Amino acid sequence: MPATRRIRFVLVGTQHPGNIGAAARAMKTMGLHRLVLVAPLRALDEDAYRRSAGAEDVLGDAPVFGSLAEAVADCTLVIGCTARSRRVSLEELLPADGGRRALAKAVEPAEVAFVFGRERTGLTNEELQLCHAAVHIPSDPAFSSLNLAAAVQVLAYEVRLAQLTQLQLSESRQAAPQVAGPRESAASHAQLEGMFGQLGEALDDIDFHKGRAPESAMRKLRRLFLRAELSEQEVRLLRGILSDAQRMARLAGKAGS
Ligand code: SAH
Repeated sequence: MPATRRIRFVLVGTQHPGNIGAAARAMKTMGLHRLVLVAPLRALDEDAYRRSAGAEDVLGDAPVFGSLAEAVADCTLVIGCTARSRRVSLEELLPADGGRRALAKAVEPAEVAFVFGRERTGLTNEELQLCHAAVHIPSDPAFSSLNLAAAVQVLAYEVRLAQLTQLQLSESRQAAPQVAGPRESAASHAQLEGMFGQLGEALDDIDFHKGRAPESAMRKLRRLFLRAELSEQEVRLLRGILSDAQRMARLAGKAGS
Protein backbone atom coordinates (compact mmCIF):
# COMPACT_ATOMS: atom_id res chain seq x y z
CA MET A 1 0.00 0.00 0.00
CA PRO A 2 1.50 3.37 -0.95
CA ALA A 3 2.25 5.67 1.99
CA THR A 4 -0.08 8.30 0.55
CA ARG A 5 -2.98 5.98 1.46
CA ARG A 6 -2.26 6.90 5.06
CA ILE A 7 -2.79 10.61 4.37
CA ARG A 8 -6.36 11.85 4.69
CA PHE A 9 -7.81 15.25 3.86
CA VAL A 10 -10.47 16.25 6.37
CA LEU A 11 -13.03 18.93 5.43
CA VAL A 12 -14.75 20.40 8.49
CA GLY A 13 -18.26 21.87 8.37
CA THR A 14 -18.21 22.48 4.62
CA GLN A 15 -21.09 24.71 3.53
CA HIS A 16 -21.18 24.09 -0.22
CA PRO A 17 -21.34 20.50 -1.45
CA GLY A 18 -19.84 21.74 -4.74
CA ASN A 19 -16.61 22.54 -2.89
CA ILE A 20 -16.46 18.99 -1.55
CA GLY A 21 -16.74 17.67 -5.12
CA ALA A 22 -14.04 20.05 -6.34
CA ALA A 23 -11.81 19.01 -3.41
CA ALA A 24 -12.26 15.33 -4.32
CA ARG A 25 -11.18 16.12 -7.88
CA ALA A 26 -8.19 18.15 -6.66
CA MET A 27 -7.06 15.23 -4.50
CA LYS A 28 -7.52 12.55 -7.16
CA THR A 29 -5.43 14.47 -9.72
CA MET A 30 -2.57 14.20 -7.22
CA GLY A 31 -3.08 10.50 -6.50
CA LEU A 32 -4.80 11.03 -3.14
CA HIS A 33 -8.05 9.24 -2.35
CA ARG A 34 -8.83 9.56 1.34
CA LEU A 35 -11.36 12.30 1.75
CA VAL A 36 -13.05 12.57 5.17
CA LEU A 37 -15.98 14.83 6.03
CA VAL A 38 -16.82 16.29 9.43
CA ALA A 39 -20.41 17.49 9.91
CA PRO A 40 -20.95 18.94 6.42
CA LEU A 41 -23.74 21.51 6.44
CA ARG A 42 -25.50 19.91 3.48
CA ALA A 43 -25.57 16.40 2.07
CA LEU A 44 -23.67 15.61 -1.12
CA ASP A 45 -25.83 16.65 -4.05
CA GLU A 46 -25.75 16.81 -7.82
CA ASP A 47 -23.48 19.84 -7.72
CA ALA A 48 -20.93 17.92 -5.60
CA TYR A 49 -20.85 15.02 -8.06
CA ARG A 50 -20.75 17.33 -11.07
CA ARG A 51 -17.78 19.24 -9.70
CA SER A 52 -15.94 16.07 -8.74
CA ALA A 53 -15.72 15.48 -12.53
CA GLY A 54 -14.54 11.86 -12.46
CA ALA A 55 -13.58 11.64 -8.80
CA GLU A 56 -16.99 10.24 -7.77
CA ASP A 57 -15.16 7.28 -6.19
CA VAL A 58 -13.27 9.58 -3.81
CA LEU A 59 -16.50 11.37 -2.99
CA GLY A 60 -18.54 8.19 -2.55
CA ASP A 61 -15.91 6.58 -0.28
CA ALA A 62 -15.66 9.60 2.07
CA PRO A 63 -16.73 8.71 5.63
CA VAL A 64 -18.68 11.31 7.63
CA PHE A 65 -17.87 12.04 11.29
CA GLY A 66 -19.67 14.19 13.84
CA SER A 67 -16.54 15.91 15.14
CA LEU A 68 -12.94 16.58 14.14
CA ALA A 69 -11.68 14.71 17.21
CA GLU A 70 -13.37 11.54 15.96
CA ALA A 71 -12.14 12.03 12.39
CA VAL A 72 -8.48 12.22 13.45
CA ALA A 73 -8.57 9.93 16.51
CA ASP A 74 -6.09 7.43 15.01
CA CYS A 75 -3.72 10.06 13.53
CA THR A 76 -0.16 10.63 14.72
CA LEU A 77 0.20 13.87 12.81
CA VAL A 78 -2.63 16.39 12.28
CA ILE A 79 -1.90 19.51 10.23
CA GLY A 80 -4.45 22.33 10.26
CA CYS A 81 -4.68 24.54 7.16
CA THR A 82 -5.42 28.12 7.99
CA ALA A 83 -6.03 31.18 5.85
CA ARG A 84 -4.91 33.45 8.65
CA SER A 85 -1.24 33.39 9.50
CA ARG A 86 0.01 33.13 13.11
CA ARG A 87 -3.44 33.04 14.65
CA VAL A 88 -2.62 30.19 16.97
CA SER A 89 0.40 29.21 18.97
CA LEU A 90 1.07 26.26 16.70
CA GLU A 91 4.24 25.69 14.73
CA GLU A 92 3.52 27.20 11.32
CA LEU A 93 4.80 25.39 8.23
CA LEU A 94 5.02 26.32 4.58
CA PRO A 95 2.98 24.02 2.32
CA ALA A 96 6.11 22.27 1.00
CA ASP A 97 7.28 21.46 4.53
CA GLY A 98 3.79 20.27 5.40
CA GLY A 99 3.82 17.95 2.38
CA ARG A 100 7.24 16.54 3.23
CA ARG A 101 6.46 16.10 6.92
CA ALA A 102 3.17 14.37 6.15
CA LEU A 103 4.79 11.94 3.75
CA ALA A 104 7.68 11.18 6.12
CA LYS A 105 5.17 10.30 8.86
CA ALA A 106 3.04 8.22 6.50
CA VAL A 107 6.15 6.24 5.49
CA GLU A 108 6.91 5.36 9.15
CA PRO A 109 4.03 4.12 8.91
CA ALA A 110 1.58 6.39 10.73
CA GLU A 111 -1.78 7.97 9.96
CA VAL A 112 -1.72 11.63 8.93
CA ALA A 113 -4.46 14.25 8.43
CA PHE A 114 -4.65 17.64 6.74
CA VAL A 115 -7.60 19.60 8.12
CA PHE A 116 -9.51 22.29 6.22
CA GLY A 117 -12.07 24.67 7.69
CA ARG A 118 -15.41 26.18 6.76
CA GLU A 119 -15.68 28.48 3.74
CA ARG A 120 -16.80 31.46 5.76
CA THR A 121 -15.21 31.03 9.15
CA GLY A 122 -12.37 28.52 8.78
CA LEU A 123 -11.46 26.32 11.76
CA THR A 124 -12.44 27.17 15.33
CA ASN A 125 -9.74 27.65 17.96
CA GLU A 126 -10.82 24.39 19.59
CA GLU A 127 -10.36 22.58 16.29
CA LEU A 128 -6.93 24.14 15.79
CA GLN A 129 -5.96 22.97 19.29
CA LEU A 130 -6.38 19.41 18.01
CA CYS A 131 -3.70 20.03 15.38
CA HIS A 132 0.03 19.45 15.86
CA ALA A 133 1.09 22.09 13.33
CA ALA A 134 -0.49 24.64 11.03
CA VAL A 135 0.08 25.21 7.33
CA HIS A 136 -0.50 28.62 5.84
CA ILE A 137 -0.32 29.07 2.06
CA PRO A 138 1.60 32.35 1.84
CA SER A 139 -1.08 34.26 -0.01
CA ASP A 140 -1.42 38.05 -0.24
CA PRO A 141 -2.15 39.17 3.35
CA ALA A 142 -4.64 41.70 1.95
CA PHE A 143 -6.63 38.85 0.31
CA SER A 144 -5.41 35.70 1.99
CA SER A 145 -8.30 33.27 1.80
CA LEU A 146 -8.25 30.72 -1.02
CA ASN A 147 -11.33 28.83 -2.11
CA LEU A 148 -11.50 25.62 -0.06
CA ALA A 149 -10.86 23.31 -3.05
CA ALA A 150 -8.00 25.54 -4.23
CA ALA A 151 -6.34 25.20 -0.81
CA VAL A 152 -6.86 21.42 -0.99
CA GLN A 153 -5.22 21.46 -4.44
CA VAL A 154 -2.11 23.26 -3.17
CA LEU A 155 -1.58 20.83 -0.28
CA ALA A 156 -2.36 17.77 -2.42
CA TYR A 157 0.22 19.00 -4.94
CA GLU A 158 2.84 19.40 -2.21
CA VAL A 159 2.23 15.86 -1.00
CA ARG A 160 2.61 14.68 -4.59
CA LEU A 161 5.88 16.56 -5.05
CA ALA A 162 7.22 15.13 -1.80
CA GLN A 163 6.26 11.65 -3.00
CA LEU A 164 7.86 12.09 -6.43
CA THR A 165 11.05 13.46 -4.87
CA GLN A 166 11.22 10.48 -2.54
CA LEU A 167 10.66 8.05 -5.45
CA GLN A 168 13.44 9.71 -7.44
CA LEU A 169 15.79 9.47 -4.49
CA SER A 170 15.14 5.79 -3.96
CA GLU A 171 15.46 5.07 -7.69
CA SER A 172 18.78 6.89 -7.93
CA ARG A 173 20.01 4.99 -4.87
CA GLN A 174 19.06 1.71 -6.54
CA ALA A 175 20.60 2.81 -9.84
CA ALA A 176 23.91 3.89 -8.29
CA PRO A 177 25.53 0.42 -8.11
CA GLN A 178 24.63 -0.18 -11.77
CA VAL A 179 26.43 3.00 -12.79
CA ALA A 180 29.60 1.77 -11.11
CA GLY A 181 29.00 -1.83 -12.24
CA PRO A 182 27.85 -4.59 -9.92
CA ARG A 183 31.17 -5.50 -8.27
CA GLU A 184 33.14 -2.29 -8.75
CA SER A 185 34.01 -0.58 -5.54
CA ALA A 186 34.00 3.17 -5.24
CA ALA A 187 37.37 4.91 -5.55
CA SER A 188 38.86 5.93 -2.21
CA HIS A 189 39.70 9.47 -1.26
CA ALA A 190 43.42 8.73 -1.70
CA GLN A 191 42.87 7.21 -5.17
CA LEU A 192 40.93 10.28 -6.27
CA GLU A 193 43.59 12.63 -4.88
CA GLY A 194 46.24 10.63 -6.76
CA MET A 195 44.25 11.06 -9.95
CA PHE A 196 43.78 14.79 -9.36
CA GLY A 197 47.54 15.17 -8.80
CA GLN A 198 48.29 13.41 -12.08
CA LEU A 199 45.58 15.41 -13.86
CA GLY A 200 47.25 18.64 -12.69
CA GLU A 201 50.63 17.47 -14.00
CA ALA A 202 49.17 16.25 -17.29
CA LEU A 203 47.43 19.57 -17.91
CA ASP A 204 50.80 21.28 -17.39
CA ASP A 205 52.53 18.79 -19.69
CA ILE A 206 50.10 19.47 -22.56
CA ASP A 207 50.26 23.21 -21.81
CA PHE A 208 46.50 23.41 -21.21
CA HIS A 209 46.69 26.48 -18.95
CA LYS A 210 48.77 28.64 -21.30
CA GLY A 211 49.97 30.92 -18.55
CA ARG A 212 46.60 31.15 -16.74
CA ALA A 213 46.45 30.20 -13.08
CA PRO A 214 45.48 26.50 -12.93
CA GLU A 215 43.32 26.72 -9.76
CA SER A 216 39.99 27.61 -11.34
CA ALA A 217 40.11 24.84 -13.97
CA MET A 218 41.24 22.32 -11.35
CA ARG A 219 38.39 23.29 -9.03
CA LYS A 220 35.86 22.73 -11.81
CA LEU A 221 37.42 19.42 -12.84
CA ARG A 222 37.46 18.19 -9.24
CA ARG A 223 33.79 19.06 -8.92
CA LEU A 224 33.00 17.23 -12.16
CA PHE A 225 34.84 14.03 -11.18
CA LEU A 226 33.57 14.03 -7.60
CA ARG A 227 30.01 14.32 -8.90
CA ALA A 228 30.58 11.26 -11.08
CA GLU A 229 31.30 9.04 -8.02
CA LEU A 230 34.05 7.17 -9.88
CA SER A 231 34.87 3.53 -9.25
CA GLU A 232 38.45 2.26 -8.77
CA GLN A 233 38.40 0.85 -12.30
CA GLU A 234 37.26 4.16 -13.77
CA VAL A 235 40.07 5.96 -11.95
CA ARG A 236 42.57 3.46 -13.41
CA LEU A 237 41.15 4.03 -16.90
CA LEU A 238 41.36 7.81 -16.59
CA ARG A 239 44.90 7.63 -15.20
CA GLY A 240 45.87 5.40 -18.15
CA ILE A 241 44.62 8.08 -20.54
CA LEU A 242 46.51 10.77 -18.60
CA SER A 243 49.73 8.71 -18.69
CA ASP A 244 49.46 8.34 -22.46
CA ALA A 245 48.79 12.07 -22.86
CA GLN A 246 51.89 12.79 -20.76
CA ARG A 247 53.97 10.32 -22.80
CA MET A 248 52.84 11.91 -26.06
CA ALA A 249 53.62 15.38 -24.69
CA ARG A 250 57.15 14.23 -23.80
CA LEU A 251 57.63 12.75 -27.26
CA ALA A 252 56.35 15.95 -28.89
CA GLY A 253 58.68 17.97 -26.67
CA LYS A 254 61.68 15.84 -27.74
CA ALA A 255 60.74 16.05 -31.42
CA GLY A 256 60.41 19.82 -31.14
CA SER A 257 63.75 20.34 -29.36
N1 SAH B 1 -12.57 33.15 6.09
C1 SAH B 1 -11.94 31.93 6.45
C2 SAH B 1 -11.39 31.29 5.20
C3 SAH B 1 -11.83 29.96 5.03
S1 SAH B 1 -11.36 29.30 3.49
C4 SAH B 1 -10.82 32.18 7.41
O1 SAH B 1 -10.37 33.30 7.46
O2 SAH B 1 -10.37 31.27 8.08
C5 SAH B 1 -11.66 27.62 3.81
C6 SAH B 1 -10.46 26.82 4.23
O3 SAH B 1 -9.53 26.76 3.18
C7 SAH B 1 -9.68 27.35 5.42
O4 SAH B 1 -10.26 27.00 6.64
C8 SAH B 1 -8.36 26.66 5.22
O5 SAH B 1 -8.40 25.34 5.70
C9 SAH B 1 -8.21 26.67 3.71
N2 SAH B 1 -7.44 27.84 3.27
C10 SAH B 1 -7.87 28.91 2.58
N3 SAH B 1 -6.87 29.79 2.37
C11 SAH B 1 -5.78 29.25 2.93
C12 SAH B 1 -4.41 29.65 3.03
N4 SAH B 1 -3.98 30.81 2.55
N5 SAH B 1 -3.54 28.83 3.65
C13 SAH B 1 -3.94 27.63 4.17
N6 SAH B 1 -5.22 27.22 4.10
C14 SAH B 1 -6.12 28.00 3.48
